[in-house]
Amino acid sequence: MKTLSIIIPCYNEEATVQKFYDETKEWMKKVPAQIEYVFVDDGSRDQTLPILRELAELDQDVHYISFSRNFGKEAAILAGFQYAKGDAVVLIDADLQHPPSLIPTMWNHYENGYDQVIAKRNRTGEKFVRKRLTNVYYKLVNRLVEVEITDGVGDFRLLSRQALDALLSLTEYNRFSKGLFSWIGFHEKMIEFENQIRTEGTSKWSFASLLNYGMDGILSFNNKPLRIAIYSGIGITLFGFIYILFTLVNYFLHGVETPGYFTTISAIILLGGIQLLFLGIIGEYIGRIYFETKRRPQYLVKEKN
Ligand code: UDP
Ligand code: MG
Repeated sequence: MKTLSIIIPCYNEEATVQKFYDETKEWMKKVPAQIEYVFVDDGSRDQTLPILRELAELDQDVHYISFSRNFGKEAAILAGFQYAKGDAVVLIDADLQHPPSLIPTMWNHYENGYDQVIAKRNRTGEKFVRKRLTNVYYKLVNRLVEVEITDGVGDFRLLSRQALDALLSLTEYNRFSKGLFSWIGFHEKMIEFENQIRTEGTSKWSFASLLNYGMDGILSFNNKPLRIAIYSGIGITLFGFIYILFTLVNYFLHGVETPGYFTTISAIILLGGIQLLFLGIIGEYIGRIYFETKRRPQYLVKEKN
């Protein structure tokens, strides 16, 4: 019999893990496989870990890894992937926003030969501003990045052992899973589900963390922003040269022109801004290289079972 590992990153999810477990356990009766639950406690500061310990005690299919502090969801995903022993794995959120009722369908597709079964959600019930912003973001990212990232496609998916091993062979420090999933390819199947509103606990995403995550998505996959910096640099320098030539010719023909205040100031502001922007872009890449070269572990485990 094959084994299916279910990986659940949890950060301060005391209000929902038990419920998640009960509900998922029920649905797993429909999956003709041995089930292994891998809860990854990402340094929760509430009762998540004691609840997981208890679950593991009562059910030998339940395992958990607990981090020494909060390392972020990407680290939790990686830990779960490394720990899982299954022939296939399902990555799912603890807050029941990813319906476990989809897992039996995912398993069927896996049995039919798919390596990635991707659950795509629609965005019903979401705040209008967030919906619009995400929309604009995905348009931008897909223009900039080589891998295709689809709106509504999150981390909720099934991966075959082959796809999982491919993913684990990517050893970068800055992990942007959405991009990595798409980068590895393999035989993919997309299924859809209704967006679920979180009922228990709170979302861990602040506006700032979403913004940072968005930036990772753009920067992790290519160096196009650096290219843009170079081309704009060339463009602006050329324009500057032409402008200087024009002014010089003008000076020899008509003498000194006094009201140059506006142009001077606007040139300083414009160029200053653009230089800062591109310095920032270059800095971002150097920062990434810095973190890659340190080769620090992505997480530290305090306790596991
Ligand atoms: N999560 C995590 N570490 C973090 C933040 C979140 O493991 O630092 C987990 C969280 O417990 C949940 C999943 O990642 O199971 C998705 O988080 P959340 O529901 O806050 O994100 P959203 O659904 O709002 O995108
Ligand atoms: Mg959620």
